[in-house]
Amino acid sequence: MVKLAEWRGKALFRKYGIPVPAGQVVRSPEEAEQLTGSGSVPLPCVVKAQVLSGGRGKGGAVRFASSAKEAREATAAILGLDFKGEKVREVLLEGKVAIARELYLSIALDRSLRLPVLIASAQGGVEIESVADGAIDHQGIDPFPGLTGYERRRVARTFGLTGALAQELDSLLRALWALYEGEDAELVEINPLAIVGDHLVALDSKVIIEDDAVFRHPEYAEIQDDRTPLEEIAREKEIAFVQLDGNIGVIANGAGLTMATLDVLMELGGKPGVFLDLGGTDDPKKVTEAFLLMAEAHPRAVFLNIFGGVTRCDTVATGLVAAMRQVPESNRFPLVARIRGNNEKEGIEILRAAGVTSIADLRASAEAVVAAAGGRP
Ligand code: GDP
Ligand code: MN
Repeated sequence: MVKLAEWRGKALFRKYGIPVPAGQVVRSPEEAEQLTGSGSVPLPCVVKAQVLSGGRGKGGAVRFASSAKEAREATAAILGLDFKGEKVREVLLEGKVAIARELYLSIALDRSLRLPVLIASAQGGVEIESVADGAIDHQGIDPFPGLTGYERRRVARTFGLTGALAQELDSLLRALWALYEGEDAELVEINPLAIVGDHLVALDSKVIIEDDAVFRHPEYAEIQDDRTPLEEIAREKEIAFVQLDGNIGVIANGAGLTMATLDVLMELGGKPGVFLDLGGTDDPKKVTEAFLLMAEAHPRAVFLNIFGGVTRCDTVATGLVAAMRQVPESNRFPLVARIRGNNEKEGIEILRAAGVTSIADLRASAEAVVAAAGGRP
């Protein structure tokens, strides 16, 4: 999934004709001072951390500066931030505008409706999750005709706009749809869409490009994903490893079984913290590397849920036992296993010899690992 930083999203807004404030992205305080001093970025300006997490406004990652010196200082302060676990490497400087009203507007792919949904609220500028359902308007959009005139007019009504502003909104909505479609986005969000004088201006952007379309966009190849350091190592070793924020580790094989295992743990009140999909591998070296990575994520307990198909249970078990022996004492964790399929008996025996009992029933084994992790976190 490619999530674009605000400045990249705004570059797309410009390309499609959605109005944004004049601004530039910088990577050093000196650059900020130079650009504001020379008038390339108007003063007073807004200084914004380019991180992917929201809530920057509340979190001190959006500041204002009225001189080149202040712009430099604000940039220096923001570049040093570690915002919600993300290091700030880029800062966007933009001319500050006087906001009359803040609105919310987005197009998001709704997988349950199987449609893009146009979402509008007159209460913008705050996280949409905090706005009452009744104050948010949703319209499912038939992607073939695209956004129709009556759908666009309904947004104008939601925002309470008439006359020239309603006309501007109409073009902005056409542009928003063109961007959503043309850039293979799964989300395009403007929050806030601000009324500034007699005009609409997009003050923030959130754009996510659809995973399966990324191959059509070589321009994003340089973008670093928001991988954790361990995920980065795993990627280099071509290991499917994902860190979540719970405390139970999951080792399974195949995406289907891995996802089902996470679901069962969640249903039983457990919180998966990291999962590892062994896929079709039975290369003991790769299994060992994967297992050591898992150990470094410090799970409270690990659930090993393996189905032996092409890769037989005994082969997987042998690799895992070898791996377990290499985990340093300080990184050890309780392990609950469920190993089924081809050569199941042999696999179970190999694990038993290493002190790991296999529980055949999915629910019982999942309950055991939730308990081992200390129940609900
Ligand atoms: P977020 O908190 O991460 O979503 O960052 P935003 O880009 O949405 O900025 C947060 C808030 O900063 C906005 O809701 C505005 O209230 C304020 N803000 C951003 N740009 C300007 C500006 O040019 N002028 C004024 N007055 N406020 C701004
Ligand atoms: Mn915002």
